[in-house]
Amino acid sequence: MDDGFSGFNSSNPSVFVSQGNGPYKNTLGVLSKIDLRPAKNKRVLLKPNAGRIDRPESGIVTNPQVVAAAIDSFREAGADVAVGESPITGVKAFDAFEACGIAEVCRKRNCRMIDLDIRPPVEREIPEGKAIRKIKVCADFFDFDFIVSIPVMKMHMHTGVTLSIKNMKGCLWRRSKVELHMLDDIPGIDDKPLNVAIADMASILHPDLAIIDGTVGMEGLGPSAGEPKKLDCVLAGTDGFAADAVACRIMGTSAEKIPHLRIAAERNYGSIDLSTITISPGNWETFISPFADTPDIVSVKYPNIEIHDRNSCSACQSTVLLFLKRYGNIIFDYFSPNDVLNIVIGKGHENVSEKCLCIGNCTRAHKEKGLFVPGCPPVGSAILKKITGMTHLPGEIINT
Ligand code: SF4
Repeated sequence: MDDGFSGFNSSNPSVFVSQGNGPYKNTLGVLSKIDLRPAKNKRVLLKPNAGRIDRPESGIVTNPQVVAAAIDSFREAGADVAVGESPITGVKAFDAFEACGIAEVCRKRNCRMIDLDIRPPVEREIPEGKAIRKIKVCADFFDFDFIVSIPVMKMHMHTGVTLSIKNMKGCLWRRSKVELHMLDDIPGIDDKPLNVAIADMASILHPDLAIIDGTVGMEGLGPSAGEPKKLDCVLAGTDGFAADAVACRIMGTSAEKIPHLRIAAERNYGSIDLSTITISPGNWETFISPFADTPDIVSVKYPNIEIHDRNSCSACQSTVLLFLKRYGNIIFDYFSPNDVLNIVIGKGHENVSEKCLCIGNCTRAHKEKGLFVPGCPPVGSAILKKITGMTHLPGEIINT
């Protein structure tokens, strides 16, 4: 890849914030402050968060108008632009692009969309890795001169927040993303191996530019089971760590409290110290609107449900939480409300109770005990289909 836009990894990074003008104008506004001339005649990959099938109002996926403004800005600068994603397991990139509106935006602009999972991956060593020493990266990633990470501003139940650095995990090939959730504790390191692994990944997969979509973010049980949070705000900066640090502050937390950002900053991959970052406009702190943290609300909200979790990945946890959030009000149409519904996820359960709901391939050994939903992880709609016996759900996108 190229050296990046001017300002990348400088000791005094700049971050620009725009609020109150809608996603398209906010994005044009912040990108107008950044020198995009290095992108002339270069290939630029826009990497939004389109990892799940959802609408942007949900706060789960990147707003298509942010992507539209990025395409228009880079084309104005003379770049060859494409949009790519490798979604969570069980979701196809083009279905996700379609659902969130990015496909429509790209079609109107004749901009190429890429399913990053199609080609065989490229394995890369991580010389400084503490949790992981190599990763499988989507091959298309290496065809581009500049990578632009365009995440949604979200809280995350396992990583604190998910912003431009964590969003690069969507450049890991297919199921290799899940492997980061299945690591053993690292001797001598207190941080969760997932957070160390994201910092490891950041040593070789960092964005050249971060555009953080705070049009509608997600607070609470992110990345997918929280509540939408409207901010009408977009940030951009050529140091993803600096952009993430400013976003953290706007979300009411600080990058120093986010393990993968802290670990990476300690290794000098980028700057998260706000005192070293030039932030514009000067009144940016008036945009601060604290996000609710990630509470453990499941047992409170669903007293008749017990989740038996043994060494599961956050992907399966997210699936269950999102499923309960969306369908928790109808689930007892299919199970007796007088009984406790036991949901089983994760690896290594020796025994499970009768009539349980086993979710994910790791629970396959107990499939005779109740209902078994295959997948790694399965998506919420697959769980609902299994429970209800429906083959298609209302409004579902059907591949022909
Ligand atoms: S089934 Fe769930 S817990 Fe098992 S490996 Fe897949 S995502 Fe992880």
